[in-house]
Amino acid sequence: MQITWNGTGSAWSTYYGNSSAVLENAGSRLIIDCGHTVPGRLRQMGIDVQDIDAIFITHLHGDHVYGLEEFGFRGFVTEGVRIPLLLPEGLAKPLWENVLSGTMRQKASHHSLEDYFDVHILSVGTPYQFGCWTLDIHPVNHVPNLDCFGVKVRANGSNVAFTADTKTGVDPFFYEDSQIVFHDCSFLPHFEGTVHTHFEQLLAYPQEYRKKTWLVHYDDETHQRLASHEWRQIVEASGMRIAESFVPIIS
Ligand SMILES: [Zn+2]
Repeated sequence: MQITWNGTGSAWSTYYGNSSAVLENAGSRLIIDCGHTVPGRLRQMGIDVQDIDAIFITHLHGDHVYGLEEFGFRGFVTEGVRIPLLLPEGLAKPLWENVLSGTMRQKASHHSLEDYFDVHILSVGTPYQFGCWTLDIHPVNHVPNLDCFGVKVRANGSNVAFTADTKTGVDPFFYEDSQIVFHDCSFLPHFEGTVHTHFEQLLAYPQEYRKKTWLVHYDDETHQRLASHEWRQIVEASGMRIAESFVPIIS
């Protein structure tokens, strides 16, 4: 399996773009999350609507779903296809009613999420097979009263986990039998009320976890921080690695 992030930034990142990964295996392409920067950054990678086999969504924050409008309109109206949309249980109704319907509902024909996407619902505890991919979703602790799901993706003997946006202390589910775990990470100092995991908290993870961990969803000021040799040394000593946009990772 090859994983290439088209963006690695936090919610309001302009420098790094919204965090979103492109998974490729056996000629199939699966996108993880679809914020508003994703369609443009995928085109930078030479990937357009017709090149996407499925999109998986972790939760309903704008930096993870606002790009769906473009793919929905272009897929169905322009290209005449409905992109398969893999959604954790409970997300389909609010995705349409609270996020997309305001701009996508049309009086004459298109009234539902299913009019634009080929919707597949995934359940916790039941791995879901889609083509060459097996997706196993698991809830994470991100924002109170907001459903958010990480996912373990298996294909061709590779096991790769995505924590999605989460506070620190993810379930061992994500690390057991995974070769790589992509983990939410802010390099800002930890602050009260945060809904993300901070780098200093990840340093407390056991070493066998840290050596599997690649960091994503970091803030724009990370760019300045990592310009410092000292900071790069701290990250290197942690055993964790920083995922960068457009740089393929092989599992
Ligand atoms: Zn979020």
